[in-house]
This record gives sequence, structure tokens and C-alpha cells, in this order.
Amino acid sequence: TKFKALGLQQSLLDAVADLGFETPSEVQEKAIPILLEDETDLVALAQTGTGKTAAFGFPLIQKIDRESRTTQGLILSPTRELCLQITNELKLYAKYEKSINVVAIYGGASITEQAKQVKRGAQIVVATPGRMKDMIGRRLVDISKIDYCILDEADEMLNMGFFEDIQDILSNTPKEKSTWLFSATMPKEVSVIAKKFMHNPHEITV
Ligand code: AMP
Repeated sequence: TKFKALGLQQSLLDAVADLGFETPSEVQEKAIPILLEDETDLVALAQTGTGKTAAFGFPLIQKIDRESRTTQGLILSPTRELCLQITNELKLYAKYEKSINVVAIYGGASITEQAKQVKRGAQIVVATPGRMKDMIGRRLVDISKIDYCILDEADEMLNMGFFEDIQDILSNTPKEKSTWLFSATMPKEVSVIAKKFMHNPHEITV
């Protein structure tokens, strides 16, 4: 299939087939090979509905070290709804990867329950910025060893006033990591974040 040509491994191709995805979308076609091949930063200009969740989700899942239960990937998203949506999608993509755990962290729900889930071993954490910052402060989650940081709908997060929280969260991550930023638009604040926290990112527009 065309997904196979992008470099996806069999367990993910099986999930793709179950989902009924036949052809990669444009952002998937552009992003997946780059993210699978290089440990690189990426800025992708893409609206919602373009299939961007799979564009970062598949490469992220493929790159997770299955032998380790440490948190390796962090996805920040603006709202609880989007956070849950991404988490559900990633769980579908990883359905044949039983050792990969994806945990959602968002406000308005029990922090104790979320902390418990993280403690069981969450290689991938999907979070809203406010709750994430809170849990870092209380040492309920450790992102000091992540390899991948994804900022989804970066323009929306900054519109909602999460600039400080995002800076704070990113300063708790290691310098050596790959950052993938997805945004529908590129206002000043987004390029400030990109300049400050990313190195020579690949750029794609769809
Ligand atoms: P997103 O832009 O990530 O919110 O995705 C929008 C919707 O498109 C989601 O319901 C996905 O499950 C679906 N989708 C993503 N990639 C594909 C694809 N290659 N073919 C068909 N549907 C897809």
C-alpha cells in the first residue's frame, strides 16, 4: 500500500487497514517519511481535518521504545476535547502494540486518577497545558526524558493564553529531543516558540 511506502511497520499498517484508510493524506505523505527517517524538528502548517493526528501519531508510535515504560512522547493540545480525541486516535493506531500505553491528562477530571495511569507507565502522554503544568509541579509526571514533543494546534494554544505554560513545560524537557509543531496559522507568537525551542526545522505546508 501507499502507507507501506511511507515506511510504516506492519503493526501500524494493520491498524491503518482496520481504520479503512486507503490513501495517505497530503500532510501524512509529506510528514511521515521525514519523521521516520530523521531525528528532526518539524513545523507543519495544517488545518484540522487534514489527517494531521496520524501524520505525527504513526511516526511517534513507531519510534517509541517498547522495552521502556518511561514517558518518551508528549503531545500538547489546546482543549480537553482535542486531547481526548488525539488519545483515542493514538490508541487505535497502536491497537496491535500492546506494550504501548497512551494516557490523557486534562483539567476538569480527577488528577489522582490521571496520576495513577501515568504511574503505570505511559510512554505517550497527551495533555492540555494547564493540567500538565500542575502535574509537573506536583511531580506526578516526569517529562525530563522525553524524545519527542508535539505541539498540536499551536496557534490555538497561544490564542488561549497558554504561552507561559508552554514555555514552562518545554523548559522541563531535555534539550536533546525532536519537536514537531502543527499549526493552522503562523502568528508571531508561534514563530517565537519555534525559534526559541526548535533547531532548523523541516517545514511543510498543506
Ligand atoms: P485530523 O485532521 O487528524 O483530525 O483527522 C481528521 C479525520 O480524518 C479523522 O477522523 C481521521 O481518522 C481521518 N483520517 C486521517 N487520515 C486519513 C486517511 N489517510 N484516510 C482516511 N481518513 C483519514
